[in-house]
Amino acid sequence: MSRLKVLILGGTTEATELARRLAGDDRFDAQLSLAGVTRAPRAAAVPTRIGGFGGAEGLRRYLTDNRIAALVDATHPFAAVMSGNAVTAAAAAGVPHLAIVRPPWQAGPDDRWRPVADMAAAAAALGSAPRRVFLTVGRKELAPFAAAPQHRYLIRSVDPPPSDLLPPDTEVIAARGPFAEGDELELIDRHAIEVLVTKNSGGSATAAKLAAARTRGIPVVMVERPPRPAADTVADADAALDWLVARHHDAASTRREV
Ligand code: NAP
Repeated sequence: MSRLKVLILGGTTEATELARRLAGDDRFDAQLSLAGVTRAPRAAAVPTRIGGFGGAEGLRRYLTDNRIAALVDATHPFAAVMSGNAVTAAAAAGVPHLAIVRPPWQAGPDDRWRPVADMAAAAAALGSAPRRVFLTVGRKELAPFAAAPQHRYLIRSVDPPPSDLLPPDTEVIAARGPFAEGDELELIDRHAIEVLVTKNSGGSATAAKLAAARTRGIPVVMVERPPRPAADTVADADAALDWLVARHHDAASTRREV
């Protein structure tokens, strides 16, 4: 039986999970691609390549040269450039494409969320009076907060941010989820946090901070997701596996017909 060559664009829990499922399945020959932004990424269950492709044209060439038969975009909901390139490159190479997009978090009746469009709007939403801010937006998007130096920041990211990008009154915690609600409450209390800033990443690994903010009655500045290009989309790795099984079936049927 011929194996379906699959490229997973990763950097998320869903990508790692899908790689784990495909690794033990002899219908598939899968590889994972990472941008290389995390210093010590989690070990993957399938062969992994690291680094950009060189835009949509570079990815198109990669798909063609490596005879990739299915592309699964399992990048983060905020990785809009890569997701756009994936749609363009898959169409140009004639490769079936699927995106895994985890559902966004939804505010409940006890949540005090302020939705904003981007990081500049998030920094502005903190206001001019000094506040103690828990900032969990990733280390590459701190510039708007450096321009709001009146606040005291507790910044959490997987790798520590470069110190020259930090606002003056900042404490950094390098940590990778999943996080538990009890630990988030302890952090909020210890640092007397008054407001949380987060991207609407969705998923369970980092949702405990929202529950903790709700429990303490703390407002949340919620950065909404960037727009995505139109594409076939599923919500999780299970559904992506179903889609790949169908692609494998299609490929086997086509081979029988020729
Ligand atoms: P981005 O702005 O959409 O992508 C920037 C560039 O990074 C892309 O044009 C591409 O370079 C390269 N790239 C991104 N993902 C790649 C992948 N899986 N394999 C190879 N190259 C990749 O994305 P980003 O926000 O910088 O995110 C980078 C990575 O971190 C993604 O894999 C994403 O899943 C992960 N991540 C992002 C966030 C977030 O909040 N943005 C959070 C958690 C994890 P070329 O144009 O040269 O191909």
